[in-house]
Amino acid sequence: MSIVIVGAGLAGGTAATELREQGYDGKVVLLGAEEHPPYERPPLSKGYLLGNDALDSAFVHPREWYAEHDVDLRTGVEATALDTDGHVVSTTSGDVTYERLLLATGAEPRRLAVAEESGVPVAYLRTIEDSDRLKAAFGEGRRIAVVGAGWIGLEVAAAAREAGSDVTVFETAELPLLRVLGPTVAEVFAGLHREHGVDLRLGASVSPQDLAGADLVVAGVGVSPRLDLARSGGLAVDDGVLVDATLRSSVPSVLAVGDIASHAHPLLGRLRVEHWDTAINQAKTAAHNLAGADEVYDAMPYFFTDQYDLGMEYVGHGSADDEVVVHGDLESRTFRAFWVREGRVVAAMHANDWDATDDLRAAVRSGELPTEG
Ligand code: FAD
Repeated sequence: MSIVIVGAGLAGGTAATELREQGYDGKVVLLGAEEHPPYERPPLSKGYLLGNDALDSAFVHPREWYAEHDVDLRTGVEATALDTDGHVVSTTSGDVTYERLLLATGAEPRRLAVAEESGVPVAYLRTIEDSDRLKAAFGEGRRIAVVGAGWIGLEVAAAAREAGSDVTVFETAELPLLRVLGPTVAEVFAGLHREHGVDLRLGASVSPQDLAGADLVVAGVGVSPRLDLARSGGLAVDDGVLVDATLRSSVPSVLAVGDIASHAHPLLGRLRVEHWDTAINQAKTAAHNLAGADEVYDAMPYFFTDQYDLGMEYVGHGSADDEVVVHGDLESRTFRAFWVREGRVVAAMHANDWDATDDLRAAVRSGELPTEG
């Protein structure tokens, strides 16, 4: 049997790895539009951007691994159309046939018109090249404007400050990360950035004039899943490729994982998650299912961030409307927080409390709020 994976990002690379590690010895083709072999993106806004970590550690494997494991990795090749009846993927370097197909085409940054109109150079952050560009632009006295105080915007702001840049962050909501974390915990991130000298401008829409004095504008206003290929193949899509609990699309020989997958999660309902951990673990389940298994993916979403001296991990799927219960001390930024809906814990996080992870996972699994102590 031949398996073709489109998208040589973290999900695609992990699926190829898992196929080989579980003993599948059929043909595997891995198509990637970027020139690099699969790599992880979190370091691009953290250790690599800060200059602390070498790029090598971001790659899923060194390039040689793919040939050594008989994975036909084709980089710099874009899949352009999908024929699910004929089982053919058209690419920029010829057609590829498959018996089973995995779509892992990921997401791309949303363009920001107001930044493009400002006359200031505009940067987005998704690739190694983007991260290199930011790193080169940061430095003492450089004026960096960041639009969007989500995870990427805040991590970029932290890295720019640590490099000595003057940083202004513009966010339309009243607090950074408000929609994800709700006001109690979002306030912690506002305090963290202000304390580190970021000029945080909240609750106002940004105009091209606001950005005019910057040396560089970094737009961190979210991503859009890359769905063109799925659409060309007639797969059912909404804000992602619709997949069932086993990650199969509306065409059962085609599976989808990672940032593009709108997954029928058995515990949480339909969900599209843009997290590193989901890209890895959905890819493993999909690899098993491509090779003939029928596994359900039911892991809880998991996310982490590092900004200055704050490290946090978050498990589950809360919303800004949930009640938030805090154990520990928000002021010193060492705490656990639980998002509670209708009496059940739906999400939990810790800040700088690295022993907490197992307890947080258990709380989200059981729905029970632990006692403080
Ligand atoms: P992608 O990583 O987007 O990979 C998809 C690949 O497919 C790309 O290389 C793309 O070029 C290729 N491709 C697309 N279309 C085609 C085509 N038609 N033909 C061939 N190739 C194609 N998550 C966390 O949980 N924690 C973090 O701290 C965190 N930090 C992040 C920091 C940054 C800077 C970024 C950008 C993301 C971060 N994320 C983080 C999110 C995480 O990186 C993503 O969820 C993850 O990369 C998704 O993996 P993926 O393989 O689904 O998609």
